[in-house]
Amino acid sequence: MTIACVELDVPIAGPFDYEIGLADVFVGSIVVVPFGRRRVVGVVVGLADSSVVEKSRIRKIERVLPVEPLPALTLSLAAFCADYYRHRLGQALSVVLPTKLRKPDFGIRTLLWGYALVANRAAELETSIPSRAKGQQRLYQALANQAGLDAVQARVIFKGAPRVLRDWTDRGWVDKQAAGLKQSVADKVQGEPPTLAPTLTEEQHQAVDRIGATLGRYVPWVLLGVTGSGKTEVYLSLIERVAAEGLQTLVLVPEINLTPQLVARVQGRFPHLDVVSLHSGLAEGERLARWERARSGQAEIVLGTRLAVFTPLPKLGLVIVDEEHDSSFKQNEGLRYHARDLAIFVANSVGVPVVLGSATPSLETYSNAIEGRYQRADLSVRPAAKAPSVRFVDTRGERIEHGVSQTALTAIARCIEHGEQCLVYINRRGFAPVLVCHACGWMAECRRCSARLTLHSRSASLKCHYCGHEESVTHTCPECGNQDLRGLGQGTQRVEEALCSRFPSARILRVDSDSTRRRGSFAAMRERIHLEKVDILVGTQMLAKGHDFPKLTLVVVLGADHALYSSDFRAGERLFQQLMQVSGRAGRADLPGHVLVQTEFPQHPIYASLAGNDFAAFADSLLKERRSAGFPPYVFQAILRAEAHRESDMWSYLKGAAHKASGTADNSITLYDPVPSPVSRIAGRFRGQLLIQASSRPSLRRFLSRWHPLLEEDRPGAVRWVLDVDPVEL
Ligand SMILES: [Zn+2]
Ligand SMILES: [Zn+2]
Repeated sequence: MTIACVELDVPIAGPFDYEIGLADVFVGSIVVVPFGRRRVVGVVVGLADSSVVEKSRIRKIERVLPVEPLPALTLSLAAFCADYYRHRLGQALSVVLPTKLRKPDFGIRTLLWGYALVANRAAELETSIPSRAKGQQRLYQALANQAGLDAVQARVIFKGAPRVLRDWTDRGWVDKQAAGLKQSVADKVQGEPPTLAPTLTEEQHQAVDRIGATLGRYVPWVLLGVTGSGKTEVYLSLIERVAAEGLQTLVLVPEINLTPQLVARVQGRFPHLDVVSLHSGLAEGERLARWERARSGQAEIVLGTRLAVFTPLPKLGLVIVDEEHDSSFKQNEGLRYHARDLAIFVANSVGVPVVLGSATPSLETYSNAIEGRYQRADLSVRPAAKAPSVRFVDTRGERIEHGVSQTALTAIARCIEHGEQCLVYINRRGFAPVLVCHACGWMAECRRCSARLTLHSRSASLKCHYCGHEESVTHTCPECGNQDLRGLGQGTQRVEEALCSRFPSARILRVDSDSTRRRGSFAAMRERIHLEKVDILVGTQMLAKGHDFPKLTLVVVLGADHALYSSDFRAGERLFQQLMQVSGRAGRADLPGHVLVQTEFPQHPIYASLAGNDFAAFADSLLKERRSAGFPPYVFQAILRAEAHRESDMWSYLKGAAHKASGTADNSITLYDPVPSPVSRIAGRFRGQLLIQASSRPSLRRFLSRWHPLLEEDRPGAVRWVLDVDPVEL
């Protein structure tokens, strides 16, 4: 083989042929090659004896990155992404690689030495260690237990390791090689005491047994567990079984803020296992080191957010997707993949079970379960607490103070009196969603977006939540000169202020993306809540997910009705999921929980199912609606999104694309007219979209495989466009 076919993250479709030369190249090798005047990183996808490219024009691979080649499964996962989401393979492969490996200079400065025992001399080395030299013994044990150690790991095990290793190498007992990667020690959670497994409930036991019986083959499972029913215990028992076989478990979680908590719990339960967490909040080097531990098979448990689905795991035995309905599993930029769907692809390719856990599964997943395509295990009992009581406060008949009703204020006061915590949930940050002039009706709008500016009181500014634009608050109406401008509606800051003046001695904590911007601040806040240094929490959905606050007994939900007005057909589903999740925060340990939802529509069916804690009834009625209206999961969608500085460019592009589509679509495809996006202008760009609907997934894929190449043919400079397959937002 003299030619390597290399996929690159460049705007031209590959692969590109390069001469291998003296390099040691395999399929999957990550290589640095010249491309135009640049040097870029690529992945070798094929080897050949010859090329159709003229010999003089073939350039040479510059070097191979000092890491193992990507395994076949990772290459096929990238190929699937490229095909399914209509992306170039080179770009999909680049998403798979940790950021650090996308840099041509990787490995040049980070080269480290690795050490391994020389097999036939290990006994000699062992006997040479004096019995009082505990550090040397630990070092020897670590070398014997693992395939190799790098210098950093060795120094953590034993401070004197560099000197001792030099000595052992000189004596020929240890082999020294370039490890290539700066590996870090296990990110063991400090101070986490080992915990014992609780006795499983009958339901948990059954779930573990049934899912456990399918280890070793591909079976998709839906674990439908009400909040507080102990899904995590089921995961842990399954992980234990898988680890006992020497296999790895991949656990995907929706939110970066949840990973430290879960890692601590998993590590506490399995102190002897190597647990790594992978998420976008890690420094590049750290992320790579952890990725490497997963890729080498050393880490038994890999926990991470959506990107972790691409981690090569040589000994994969089980995949778990926790809170599978969560929209953060969908990537909304670049390669627009859905990590849950890719997790299913991975499980299927390897032949292992995948567990999709949720109290409120997405309707896509739920319909797969009721139609028998997925197996289903239910957890309907909350072992630690009763389901919270849910009440609705009809705001039409109440005096409302800064968005909070008297009923809610009374309940909050009682909660504080009892020394318990309450959560006031409102999914809008800032002080007020809009600044208005009551004289003429003027509203503060973003100049670059078709969106209103949110009033932020702390910074006395108006911020655009779409483009990030920020300006100082005006006190005079630019239209009529009126000086009485007011914030209309509620955000977290306003509710916080109102509660502060109403309950001056209460300790109030606001948790939203503004108050947790600094790294680590969210963890510190969680700590304060756990230490019971907080009486009232005011927060957005950041607080709704998975956090367990034992003293929290009351949840007050404000502003939920907004979702009822939404034009997105998924708004009702999302509202129900959010409300179920946030209600689940109330009353865990031994304190009963109460939920108060403020609404103008207490009779709405969504609220009725919520009060009955009845996901199945809700989902069944929603599925019926979706079927008759022809919405997913009964149809399959793709959206072509386009944006341009000039509105006419955007429209003419979409019209052209629609024309190409009508030429290739068969009668299983429904083409809609181009329409403005829900936010029709962001950061000065006009946005429009074209919806395509198909009666089956194969017909959608067939259509896209014909249409997408036509779109690729012309890429007008003025228009940015992207195809979103299986969009979760309109
Ligand atoms: Zn005015
Ligand atoms: Zn804006």
